[in-house]
Amino acid sequence: MISVEQALEKILSYAGILEEEEKPILDCLGQVLAEDIYSDINIPPLDNTAMDGYAVQAKDTLNSAQESPRFLSVIDTVAAGYISKREVKPGTAIRIMTGAPIPRGADSVVQFENTDELLRRESSIDRQLPGEIGILCEAKVGLNIRRAGEDITKGSKVLSKGVIIRPSEVGVLASLGRSKVMVIRRPVVAILATGDELVDINQSLSPGKIYNSNTYSVAALVLRYGGIPKILGIALDSEDSVVASLRQGLDADMLITTGGVSAGDYDVVKDILAKEGEIAFWTVRMKPGKPLAFGTIRGESKAGVVRNIPHLGLPGNPVSSMVTFELFVRPAMLKMMGKKNLVKPTVEAVLEGPVVNSDGRRIMARAVVRERDGKYFAQLTGPQGSGILTSMSLANALVVIPEDKARMEAGDVVQTMMLDWSKE
Ligand code: AMP
Ligand code: MG
Repeated sequence: MISVEQALEKILSYAGILEEEEKPILDCLGQVLAEDIYSDINIPPLDNTAMDGYAVQAKDTLNSAQESPRFLSVIDTVAAGYISKREVKPGTAIRIMTGAPIPRGADSVVQFENTDELLRRESSIDRQLPGEIGILCEAKVGLNIRRAGEDITKGSKVLSKGVIIRPSEVGVLASLGRSKVMVIRRPVVAILATGDELVDINQSLSPGKIYNSNTYSVAALVLRYGGIPKILGIALDSEDSVVASLRQGLDADMLITTGGVSAGDYDVVKDILAKEGEIAFWTVRMKPGKPLAFGTIRGESKAGVVRNIPHLGLPGNPVSSMVTFELFVRPAMLKMMGKKNLVKPTVEAVLEGPVVNSDGRRIMARAVVRERDGKYFAQLTGPQGSGILTSMSLANALVVIPEDKARMEAGDVVQTMMLDWSKE
């Protein structure tokens, strides 16, 4: 039996970075940018006002104050999106709205609150442009002016190859007028459930049968981490059935089967790996998830290219398949997508009850981690049987009990892999 680290290293050695593709920016969330992005414009493109107010010449406001306003004649009004044709000359002002370009001749903007605008508005019946405006403070050159290129300068590098596209990067790209960008493509992950007992959720149950939940939990994990699930349905516990179904997935970047990897009579997946490709390992020193199988299946893509597709045979127990996905499939997917950080966030937490480790495997125990007074506390989510899927639903973390610890007590500090930050 190999360790979790050895298993992960092996799996990652088969996960190559995928090709680049050009896509609309909104489809790229969570993907890695495959090009440096330079700006061919200034943002903002022109000097503009950060406030609603009056564009003036600062020297015209010398000695202006609440009790001694300086009156300027108002020659125009300009809204965002328009450029005034007039020029601010000594003794004049242009009424201007936030975002509008600074008119020629002006060097500062006095906001409405520092003029008698509001008084005039109260007394004016038809909200006409005032003939003159009283300035109630001194303006310094540059007051309330946002300079052209202050956010992004024309020609500068704005985003670097390798960054992960989040909503803010989508916004930055849009601000540059980019509708498409080059990103590393998402992996297609084919998912096959195995088991004579399985029935699809659209079918009705008959005696002895259970619903296939693994396909759906695994597909949801693939989606969550940015991949494209390709659902291959359910195969029976026979080599012929599993091989026939797997053939439908040979154009995927990764094959995932669930079930059929234990030591039981009908556990055919590892035999198939050995016959249809190469088996790299079977069984990992962990709990749940011991009977994990990994290897490659020889396949031919639609384009006729022969290649070895990484195949993870996840254990059939619903908790085991999810936990092994988080530990092994997720990092492999992220690596394929060009990501550098492959580990889930991990915190140290204080254990709130004892955990017994009977057979020297690494236990990944489902737990709820809560923060109290700046410390994290981990409480197991009740029975830890690997068939108890609701224990996964209750959890927001996996507590790591090392293989060399036979027992851990309440109060011990444990490493805790966060699956989600909160259950709220
Ligand atoms: P196996 O690894 O095939 O021996 O399966 C272990 C346990 O997980 C058995 O109790 C199976 O019935 C159950 N199981 C296997 N596959 C699924 C699935 N797709 N959905 C729900 N339970 C499953
Ligand atoms: Mg089975």
